[in-house]
Amino acid sequence: MTEFQVTNQNSGNTFLVRTDETVLDSLLRQGTAVPYSCRNGTCAACKATLVSGRVIYDDYDPSALTDDEIANGAILLCRAHPREDLEICAEEIDLLSNLVIQKLPCRVIELNRLAHDVMEVKLALPRDTTFQFIAGQYIDIMMRDDKRRGFSIANAPGSDLLTLHVRHVPRGRFTSHIFQAMKIRDILRLEGPLGTFFLRKDSDKPIIMIAGGTGFAPLHAILEDLFRGAEYNRPIHLFWGVRDLRDLYHRDLVESWVEEHQGVFQFTAVLSEPEATNDWRGETGWVHESVLRHYPDLSNFEVYASGPPPMIEVIRDTFPEHGLLPAQLYYDSFEFSSDTLYPAES
Ligand SMILES: Cc1cc2nc3c(=O)[nH]c(=O)nc-3n(C[C@H](O)[C@H](O)[C@H](O)COP(=O)(O)OP(=O)(O)OC[C@H]3O[C@@H](n4cnc5c(N)ncnc54)[C@H](O)[C@@H]3O)c2cc1C
Repeated sequence: MTEFQVTNQNSGNTFLVRTDETVLDSLLRQGTAVPYSCRNGTCAACKATLVSGRVIYDDYDPSALTDDEIANGAILLCRAHPREDLEICAEEIDLLSNLVIQKLPCRVIELNRLAHDVMEVKLALPRDTTFQFIAGQYIDIMMRDDKRRGFSIANAPGSDLLTLHVRHVPRGRFTSHIFQAMKIRDILRLEGPLGTFFLRKDSDKPIIMIAGGTGFAPLHAILEDLFRGAEYNRPIHLFWGVRDLRDLYHRDLVESWVEEHQGVFQFTAVLSEPEATNDWRGETGWVHESVLRHYPDLSNFEVYASGPPPMIEVIRDTFPEHGLLPAQLYYDSFEFSSDTLYPAES
């Protein structure tokens, strides 16, 4: 197996990367995390700088890495395979270096309908395993043919259960299975913990959280983790965009957090298609527009956003015009899995 040396100029660390692995997968296997999210070549979270060397790419979304960006030395670590020794510049995330990414069996122990198209799935891990993660991370569920589906862990660490909030994608292979055939005691296989969407606690900037639909799941984990700890005082404003009132699962819980953490935690629900019969008097429209109405100047905030790819894309495109620096934006884009995005040619 051919290997090339990859040197990260930011840290001075070197890694041997096999040509059959992506640079990102190899770094993760060797215990080094750099920012990443979808691992599908679509969300661009793993974009870094290629100082020297040559790579070839698996399929990726051209909007995640444009030809101009390649010409200016950008590299998409989740799709790049080395063809020579490489020098790159990428941020290494020390906090994740002690977490072991594992492949484990797990058992479905509860299935609870949270909304008409959202299922809470509770998974029990084998008794003799330790599964450590940071609130906000996700797991991949591995299907029989080794195809994967990503789901955020919706609960805070510290329990031996993992909770998912799964939205039913019409005709989606795995989510339809959950809604139509999955039973209590079924065994699944997972890989995790994955991703770098977690709260950076080394900052005191006020936080804007933006959830789209089940994008609430990782934010729920982060908030649950924060609010059960020592007294909390860094301001957070959660915006949650859904279509209609019936999609706003766990609304009572979020409103109870507002009561308990007055002056620190605010919540704004934004409905994009409210039914007239609901008599909704709150905010309507797109959730990112609501954020900008409240905070036209974002220069002093950190933004944590998770949910559908179009929501993340519009935030990435428009928020910098309102003063948000790229380093102040953290996101998990709920991209489709790679077999859906880049089906093998028949
Ligand atoms: C990091 C990460 C975290 C995620 N966390 C969550 C989570 O916590 N909760 C959750 O509900 N989802 C989450 N997702 C999205 C989830 O992985 C997809 O919805 C899931 O893969 C769909 O699988 P499927 O087999 O049902 O659909 P597929 O069989 O893969 O897709 C069938 C068709 O549906 C469309 N499609 C696929 N996915 C979506 C989608 N998300 N939205 C709209 N149309 C789609 C495609 O056009 C595709 O052709 C996450 C994704 C990522 C990358």
